[in-house]
Amino acid sequence: EVLADQIAAGEVVERPASVVKELVENAIDAKSTQIDIVVAEAGLKQIKVIDNGEGIPANEVELAFRRHSTSKITSRDDLFRIKTLGFRGEALPSIASVADVSLETKTADAVSGVLLHVKGGEQLEKKSSVRPQGTEIIVNDLFYNTPARLKYLKSLQTELAAISDIVNRLALSHNNIAISLTNNGRVLLQTVGNGDVQQTISAIYGVKNARQMIAFNGKDLDFKIRGYVSLPKLTRATKSYISLLLNGRYIKNFQLSNAIIRGYGSKLMVGRYPVAVVDMTLDPLLVDVNVHPTKQQVRISKEEQLAQLLTKSVYDRIAQENL
Ligand code: ADP
Ligand code: MG
Repeated sequence: EVLADQIAAGEVVERPASVVKELVENAIDAKSTQIDIVVAEAGLKQIKVIDNGEGIPANEVELAFRRHSTSKITSRDDLFRIKTLGFRGEALPSIASVADVSLETKTADAVSGVLLHVKGGEQLEKKSSVRPQGTEIIVNDLFYNTPARLKYLKSLQTELAAISDIVNRLALSHNNIAISLTNNGRVLLQTVGNGDVQQTISAIYGVKNARQMIAFNGKDLDFKIRGYVSLPKLTRATKSYISLLLNGRYIKNFQLSNAIIRGYGSKLMVGRYPVAVVDMTLDPLLVDVNVHPTKQQVRISKEEQLAQLLTKSVYDRIAQENL
């Protein structure tokens, strides 16, 4: 069991940022309205995620750490209409197999909460605890028992940048959740969570950049897109400032990012990139998210058509600006 979990961990948990991603996605799936992420030493020493979501019933806590046990899909049909970010039931057991994990949780109707301590896949302790509704999970000493994995990590600065990047994208795709990120006591992000994407953009890219973003949208028979792009000549961005959301899930897709850049035509100076946040809505049947355990790569039917719609929508909107 532990070995199988460690093998799965190789795919799901590459670096501290992947742990942060999985834990925050769980907090989102639990309908939290506030999620605080507190890391020490870029997550290598500690990753703590505190949410105010539904919590886990005391008699299901151990199950949550068992592989392929998920509370999120119950039938084969669900797999084609996935509404939650998680569904594979791999994250918690994978993380707990390569770290020292304490999870404390309480549901709304439970009298008291429960604390479960698992290290290297072995359960060390389970006891009741007093705490408000929600879940707090602490991951200490990540990769302590997989030195090869530790060796592959980059500098603390690079690992922290990866955490920041993922938290930013999760915040952009969940504007109705107040999300904070702190490293070694320094606050790196704090969103208000009032549902306004522009507020989230301000929190991430600064008020000045946010003011220079313009809204655009587009639609065809299969796709609906809505987003914000920065005015071409006013930003100092890299390619990673393009955030793509597909039915509320953030994805990585080179073709679609390039389609947005193409929409700028010659208006984007060479070597410069826009800030963009684009939400794409389509029939879930046109997407396969079950391609890779981390679910950042997805397979989209009619991807070329979507790319063309993106290019055209950005192009048309920017043409109105008379730059
Ligand atoms: P998945 O998200 O794919 O279902 P995970 O291993 O990430 O699998 O989590 C296992 C289960 O633990 C989830 O299905 C959920 O029931 C529960 N869980 C994990 N984290 C939380 C959380 N923060 N709040 C409520 N339930 C949680
Ligand atoms: Mg999950």
